[in-house]
Amino acid sequence: MDYFPLFLKLQGQRCLLAGGGEIAARKARLLLQAGASMTVVAPELNAELAVWRDAGQLQHLAAHYAASQLDGQRLVIAATDDAGVNAQIFADCEARNILVNAVDSPEHCRFIVPAIVDRSPVVVAISSGGNAPVLARILKARLETLLPSGLGALASLAGKLRATVKARLADEAARRRFWETALDGPAAEQAMAGDITSAEAMLHTQLAQADAAASTGAVYLVGAGPGNPDLLTFRALHLMQKSDVVLYDNLVSPQILALVRRDAERIYVGKKANNHALPQEDINRLLVRLAQEGKRVLRLKGGDPFIFGRGGEEIEELASAGIIFEVVPGITSASGASCYAGIPLTHRDYAQSVTFVTGHRRADQIELDWPRLVSPSETVVIYMGVAQAPSICAQLIAHGRAATTPVAIVERATWPDQRTLLGTLETLPGLIAQHTIKPPALIIVGEVVQLHERLAWR
Ligand code: SAH
Repeated sequence: MDYFPLFLKLQGQRCLLAGGGEIAARKARLLLQAGASMTVVAPELNAELAVWRDAGQLQHLAAHYAASQLDGQRLVIAATDDAGVNAQIFADCEARNILVNAVDSPEHCRFIVPAIVDRSPVVVAISSGGNAPVLARILKARLETLLPSGLGALASLAGKLRATVKARLADEAARRRFWETALDGPAAEQAMAGDITSAEAMLHTQLAQADAAASTGAVYLVGAGPGNPDLLTFRALHLMQKSDVVLYDNLVSPQILALVRRDAERIYVGKKANNHALPQEDINRLLVRLAQEGKRVLRLKGGDPFIFGRGGEEIEELASAGIIFEVVPGITSASGASCYAGIPLTHRDYAQSVTFVTGHRRADQIELDWPRLVSPSETVVIYMGVAQAPSICAQLIAHGRAATTPVAIVERATWPDQRTLLGTLETLPGLIAQHTIKPPALIIVGEVVQLHERLAWR
């Protein structure tokens, strides 16, 4: 993050605006809306600024900029038409630790002013960190259409009721639940439609019926897909925003984790082959305990929770402890890798069926039904197969699959740094070693791999 986002309370605070033209006027409008006590220093003011001066909304210092004018200022905007003066103002402010912004000159800004969508008291600020102001404006336009105009009224009403709700519901979790229902239900619609009186009455009724005790917890076992956040389901995102605590492992990408409610507690229960941060039994028990404490627990898993994810074991424990749970499917990495590498897993001409297997060893053995995997019209996708690739390839050949069968290995499928390597059953182990392929990676075996050449799109 290049800039720290914050909202500044400027009511009654001294601010200096240097410049009297159009651009200065634009900045003045915002500062006035925020209630700043503003001095404009400029030999002359344009018509708009003059109106505000005459109405007593700002003070005019009819002079050129001088460093002495900075004394006691909280914030300064340099908007003169002289880039040299603006740069000087920046340097003077920096020396005095005063927040400063020189218009249109990012290198002379201690802070930048975001594009905003104003539904006061709700304000959405958007910044591209100076990289793409047009992008920020496009986002702003989108949000303008998305956020109802009554949002501000709803927020004001919530503000009015806050203390009452706090007094009635001492438990923080219970309060959060109340607000989540209240702000997403019919009373909220009423407020946004402008009928504040009935909205307020409805909220009071709801509050009277609210359960003062923390309600029972639940566990959401959610598939996070292969890593690219665009491949999450709506349900996954919804539950990610609703949970109090999240348990995740290293298949969950940082970009996806960033979408979990910001104040949710995060517990890493990571798993790398042979290096379990928490044994599975402990994870199962932890899920039960957290839910029994009344928490909404998100168990976020890479791919789909029911494909080589041990999701079944986790909910078995929940079911026997009588905990409420929900399971949300995710895009399994085989689908992610297939689509993002341009390798359809079935195809009329090349493969009539596909089998997902795991290359993970159990008791020092890969337990696979080899004879079932060697038909030339079968696609085999191998999860967790990087370390065992040499023996997997050797077994497939030994059981009758042609050594020249095309094979792909897709590392970090759907991530920005996805790698796809092509070879055959014979050459794959060498390729893995040569390119130091590391998990997570999937091996795809079968004639469909030939299609990559024509169908790869990224
Ligand atoms: N439940 C997961 C699989 C968990 S097993 C799913 O449905 O995808 C872990 C294995 O999944 C890894 O060893 C790797 O083989 C595969 N995998 C998970 N994410 C992957 C990704 N982004 N790219 C390639 N393989 C991935």
